[in-house]
Amino acid sequence: MRDFKNINSKRNKVGIIIAKCSNVKELFGIRIENFEKDNWICNWAFKIKEDVAKREGYDKTKVSGSFLISSEYPGCPYCGNNNYVYCCCGKVSCHNSNDEIFTCPWCGSSGPLSGPVTEMYIGNDR
Ligand SMILES: [Zn+2]
Ligand SMILES: [Zn+2]
Repeated sequence: MRDFKNINSKRNKVGIIIAKCSNVKELFGIRIENFEKDNWICNWAFKIKEDVAKREGYDKTKVSGSFLISSEYPGCPYCGNNNYVYCCCGKVSCHNSNDEIFTCPWCGSSGPLSGPVTEMYIGNDR
């Protein structure tokens, strides 16, 4: 039996991304699960209060790989947007995948979307 960086552990690694709704500008958490070596899938979203997000210490660990959205992903808990965007300011926000222009609710910058996300800051789910 070998232990190789927990990749073989039965329980998938799970993380939380803190995101902001681009419509109502409230915070929510996106639950992501590591399902293969460098692949992460988002499968849940929930409302979260700003003080809770700070207290829990989310946004701590940088992970890289590919980030997918599960068909089970319920969308933004505030406005139902089915996608999210990782802005160059380092923050994540909900996004409607039909819109080609994105406006970041964290830093206010706006423009067309670029390539897929390859890295993300996540916190531990306990
Ligand atoms: Zn939203
Ligand atoms: Zn931004």
